[in-house]
Amino acid sequence: MEVLRSLDDLKQWIDGAGSVPRTLVPTMGALHRGHTSLFDLARCKKPDSDVVATIFVNPTQFGPDEDFGAYPRQLESDLQLCEKHRVEAVFVPEKEDMYREDSSISITESKLSNLLCGASRPGHFDGVCTVVAKLFLITQPDAAVFGEKDFQQLAVIRRMIRDLNFPIEVIAAPTVREEDGLAMSSRNAYLTSDQRRTAPVIYDTLTQISNGIAAGAISTPEIARKQAHRTIESCEGARLDYFEIVDSESLEPLDAFGTETPRLLAAVFFGKTRLIDNVGLPALSE
Ligand code: AMP
Repeated sequence: MEVLRSLDDLKQWIDGAGSVPRTLVPTMGALHRGHTSLFDLARCKKPDSDVVATIFVNPTQFGPDEDFGAYPRQLESDLQLCEKHRVEAVFVPEKEDMYREDSSISITESKLSNLLCGASRPGHFDGVCTVVAKLFLITQPDAAVFGEKDFQQLAVIRRMIRDLNFPIEVIAAPTVREEDGLAMSSRNAYLTSDQRRTAPVIYDTLTQISNGIAAGAISTPEIARKQAHRTIESCEGARLDYFEIVDSESLEPLDAFGTETPRLLAAVFFGKTRLIDNVGLPALSE
């Protein structure tokens, strides 16, 4: 496995790879089984391609009061995991490689990005789009893998690829969970043991409601929203940021269950730690 620590390293490696196609897996490191499932999926879906992982804690997607400084960084063990999962190359740029000090261009997706997480985290998806577009241009992949865990991010990136004509296929990876259902996330490490015990309430609530909708017991999105608020707010230590049922493509909130494919998404605070998760309806998801 090649560890590429600068743009020059990466360029040389790409030149040496000739016409072998590449599948990109962008990450911010602190790798866990969610991330390694993306490497494995890349290999499985594109067996003739090189898998290129990137590890970069992207400052532009963090708000001023968010956890950029505290975000876990553990490069050595991350590289070992990449090697174990047979990644061909890992690009680990410095901030200076990705952003000039006087950089004055960024990419804004202006529809999907304002909803859900975008409403709570202004500018977040500008940072995501900008860094992902740069990684696309720098690594020139044929395909890229993104997790459904970050469902809105996946939708925004699909939109960017469509609207900016990036010739890149998106591969969506299902969410990998802990045994008790909590979606794996680098931010789970911030939880106290009490918070960790409570955190599965997110997935429990999402699945209860999605089962209720599928069974016809929950007839409107409004009833579902009320139920989610009640369940999560009654849980000590949990504070609901949002719960929404949206059309899975436009991400617009649904008023009624009709022909759209619904997606249920939630963000919940445990102290300062904000965790997100989402599910589809049982017959349509996973
Ligand atoms: P991050 O390092 O959090 O920016 O995530 C990098 C990629 O891994 C993104 O495409 C995420 O959606 C994906 N990812 C993170 N956690 C999980 C998980 N539990 N299951 C599947 N994919 C995940």
